[in-house]
Amino acid sequence: MWMRSDQMLRTQTVLGQILARVADDDQYRRWMGQVDRAGYCVRPVQLAGSATTVNAATGEVEASYSSSAEPGGVLLVACKDRRESVCPPCAARYRSDAWHVFAGGVSRALPAPDSDAAGSPLVLATFTAPSFGRVHAARDGGVCRAARTGRRDGGRGTRVCEHGRPLGCPARHTPGDGMVGAPLCTDCADLAGLVLWNAHVGELWRRTVIYVYRALAALAPALGGRPVGVRQIRDLLRLSYVKVTEFQKRGVVHLHVLARLDGVNPDDPDALVPAPAWAGVELLTAALKQAGARASVPLPVVDSRTAAMARWGNQLDVRPVRASAVDGARVAGYLAKYATKTVSDSVSGLPASRPRGDDPDMAGARAIPAHVAALTDAVRRLARLATCRTLRLARHIHTLGFRGHVTSKSRRYSTTFAALREERRAWRQARARERDPWAHERDDAQCVVVGDWRIAGIGYRTLGDRVLAEVLGREHRQAREAQRLGLTA
Ligand SMILES: [Zn+2]
Ligand SMILES: [Zn+2]
Ligand SMILES: [Zn+2]
Repeated sequence: MWMRSDQMLRTQTVLGQILARVADDDQYRRWMGQVDRAGYCVRPVQLAGSATTVNAATGEVEASYSSSAEPGGVLLVACKDRRESVCPPCAARYRSDAWHVFAGGVSRALPAPDSDAAGSPLVLATFTAPSFGRVHAARDGGVCRAARTGRRDGGRGTRVCEHGRPLGCPARHTPGDGMVGAPLCTDCADLAGLVLWNAHVGELWRRTVIYVYRALAALAPALGGRPVGVRQIRDLLRLSYVKVTEFQKRGVVHLHVLARLDGVNPDDPDALVPAPAWAGVELLTAALKQAGARASVPLPVVDSRTAAMARWGNQLDVRPVRASAVDGARVAGYLAKYATKTVSDSVSGLPASRPRGDDPDMAGARAIPAHVAALTDAVRRLARLATCRTLRLARHIHTLGFRGHVTSKSRRYSTTFAALREERRAWRQARARERDPWAHERDDAQCVVVGDWRIAGIGYRTLGDRVLAEVLGREHRQAREAQRLGLTA
């Protein structure tokens, strides 16, 4: 088979770049070390500059480092993007950190080894959005939607909406079908309501937590012959949680929440105390359901059709998680998978990150299906309304109005991402010290590091570098996998 000449030229160029990279053994090793430290990131940040370690007591320069000694004069650092579609290696690392954060909270629900207490109740709850109009759906090979109401269209006898569009759909969609999630009629669908709901889901959750405490107080058994008051409940119980936001195909978000009920030690608020025996899984489940049904947020007035309040949909699913290693690990993995998804993974046509410019027109995004374009138009329309000004929707067109973080947790749920990064840094330093026993002399509390860095570029300098880094990354992962399976010493 013959390659087209432009293809051949490209291949030759890439090969030339790879050969140039490996030509000098020392330079190649340094570069490979950088790629390894950047975790085989596919679009690392190129930093140029220097750092000097100064002994604060004596003013002496203990060590200095400059990127000019590095290949190409730059230091490569990982982009640290959590999104699978942007950088798979960095997303894998984020997913593993996320797993540790989630699983850490599960293990805190376990009873202490030397006690016969039951441990703290733990549940996985999914808070969904209400309906904003009928959408196409994949139903395990079943028919999309039957129309049971609505006027009949003259000749064909199909039931249609006021815009003359069919109210049913006889197709059998597969989950990958681009139609899934699209409204049957974009004029019937309440797109403004959907966008406003996305924009208020953070506030709705905040209010839900307040209602959980109210519900816990109302549902708690009388203690010492007296009912428990709303003010008293926070001295007895604490709701700790981690939540992950997921975009559904119809463009609306829902929340997966891993919620744990802890006890409280009034003398030491940071202490981890198991929930009292009267506060079990049933109480936590009932409180979440009651709070989910009652919480609401007033919405700005945009038109007569859109609801005045944001509320949860009526499909609130709450399942107990047995705080066993197996169940906990499974749930943590399930949530970690969602933590690296983006809106673009669920809603086709949207970019993975915010396009540049004040009114991004989605240039560079894949072809946008009509219903997604209708949604982004709805965000733009709302962004111009005076009643929506404080929502700053123009900045959130690509997330269909959603403004929060994908993953967030209550303070005492478990360890943090920052703590995990610090641990990794300390481990790296310890490993460096093993290699260089004198390094600890410099790693003194008296020393301060003065750095001066600028970003010289994003990504690899050549396509050849990028290809080579990908190959090295694949080899690295295979070697690690072989080690995990015990195939190597
Ligand atoms: Zn990366
Ligand atoms: Zn359909
Ligand atoms: Zn219609």
